Amino acid sequence: AQATRYLQAHLRDVPDFPRPGILFKDITPLLAEPRAFHMTLDLLVHPFIGRQIDAVIAIESRGFLFGGALAARLNASLVPVRKAGKLPAAVDRVAYALEYGEAELEMHKGSLRPGAHVLIVDDVLATGGTAAAAATLARGQHAIVAGFAFVIELDALLGRSRLAHDGEAQVHALI
Ligand code: IMP
Repeated sequence: AQATRYLQAHLRDVPDFPRPGILFKDITPLLAEPRAFHMTLDLLVHPFIGRQIDAVIAIESRGFLFGGALAARLNASLVPVRKAGKLPAAVDRVAYALEYGEAELEMHKGSLRPGAHVLIVDDVLATGGTAAAAATLARGQHAIVAGFAFVIELDALLGRSRLAHDGEAQVHALI
């Protein structure tokens, strides 16, 4: 609880970003303070140390900031999931609903070995649509989603229930 309060003190609420009426959780102050960033990485990885994690899937773009460091700590592969049109080689693609409209995420074909255990990482869990789409891409390559790790969970939006519905994956959020 003390650690959570310390990390929370390094978040910034930005009103009306990216649109009027949205209160944006900004993690850049946490990245800027070395002790806070280090603690965040330690706490994010903690439940997954000693478990089989073959690959970390990092979601564009703020998921990249944490995913690389977590993959290095877990001696796991790092696999980026990106917005449509950013990855250069052949991709698998999934469309998912946003609050307003639709978006697509892509992952390179052949990124995951069948049966690989993966950890999906992003900065914020809101409705869970983005992380669920990343899980769909992973399962499409016959990987097993062992867990999800987020710095922030906006729990009023019930994203956790959307990710935990099929039971196997652990949903881990710090704040
Ligand atoms: P979801 O798909 O509704 O769960 O939204 C999660 C995605 O939107 C993640 O990729 C987050 O980076 C981004 N996101 C949603 N709300 C915030 C916020 O307040 N701060 C930073 N990112 C956010």
